[in-house]
Amino acid sequence: MTVTTTPPRLEIRNLVARFAGRTVVDDVSLTVQAGQVTCLLGPSGCGKSTTLRMIAGVEMQTSGEIYVDGKLICDTVFRVPPERREIGLMFQDFALFPHLSVADNVAFGLKGSKEQKRARVEELLTKVDLMRFIDGFPHQLSGGEQQRVALARALAPRPRIMLMDEPFSGLDNRLRDGIRDETLAVLKEEDAAVLLVTHEPDEAMRMADEIALMRRGKIVQQGAPYNVYTRPADKAAVAFFSDVN
Ligand code: ADP
Ligand code: MG
Repeated sequence: MTVTTTPPRLEIRNLVARFAGRTVVDDVSLTVQAGQVTCLLGPSGCGKSTTLRMIAGVEMQTSGEIYVDGKLICDTVFRVPPERREIGLMFQDFALFPHLSVADNVAFGLKGSKEQKRARVEELLTKVDLMRFIDGFPHQLSGGEQQRVALARALAPRPRIMLMDEPFSGLDNRLRDGIRDETLAVLKEEDAAVLLVTHEPDEAMRMADEIALMRRGKIVQQGAPYNVYTRPADKAAVAFFSDVN
């Protein structure tokens, strides 16, 4: 009998980042499965963005390995360049190109014929409900609409993995929950493995399939949101989660 197991979409093993002798990411290991959202949750300065930057390939780790679909993409000697990692990125400032139309922003990373690109752009703009702005420009859109264009752009080349660094922080409080839910629905349809960084417990509770709680460079607890919330690992975790209501 043959048993086949699918490797996780993303796996990081024993990742360490040290800057000028100071350890900022300290032996972090985690996995993200296809179709799932894993939240890296922790207070400001605990090393979340540095972890994402190493996965994206724009920062080199001090030690540790990164695997995509079970294949090594980076250790301390071997390194697949960022543009060949099939990773989509989304940050707090949506960083749309101001001089490009909404359609051209979404098409930016796409290859193929003009017709193929146009079809993918229309498919995504339909999903994020922005077809009416296809020929518009970023400055004509609200913050929430710009966020959805950034989401469509990041997903357009069908990344294996989506890395999202506090992608909702810049948004109006009243809109945020709705946009989180819409974003989640689109992410699930597109079947990316999502690693979402946030310092807000309620965001992790709302969006994550799995939470990795991070403090001072280390993952202190990992599990399903309900379990992490109801059985915090220590007093500091209790205090951190007392934010949720
Ligand atoms: P978070 O995203 O959780 O707020 P960061 O990963 O941005 O945390 O930063 C963690 C710590 O690492 C901070 O103290 C930051 O100043 C430091 N740090 C990040 N990148 C560098 C770097 N390239 N050189 C020196 N220190 C850095
Ligand atoms: Mg950060």
